[in-house]
Amino acid sequence: MSHAHATFVFEDRVLFGEYNGTSDVMLPLMFDTKKGVSDHWRKQEWKDCDCGNDPVPCAAHTDYGGGFWWIGEACLVCRVFVGPKMPFDYDVDYVDAADPPKADVLR
Ligand SMILES: [Zn+2]
Repeated sequence: MSHAHATFVFEDRVLFGEYNGTSDVMLPLMFDTKKGVSDHWRKQEWKDCDCGNDPVPCAAHTDYGGGFWWIGEACLVCRVFVGPKMPFDYDVDYVDAADPPKADVLR
């Protein structure tokens, strides 16, 4: 279980992804459903934003290691989490694994 589920919380929606706990890195692909995540699970697909639009803030949460989250940015056009992808270079907040933060953390 070195990979874990991720949730990306935006002002107006929630998207889902995959966290690589071995490398402690958030994989960038974001999906509307957990089924979408399952279809791409452990494929190590990598995509960067290349559209030139400004990213928007989101809270990135994973249930890995008991659960934690941090504030990052994502591109909703490219459907990728921009970063920071390696949270331990950054500040994280620990929460319950099953309890992603609410959108009010973005305000
Ligand atoms: Zn983009």
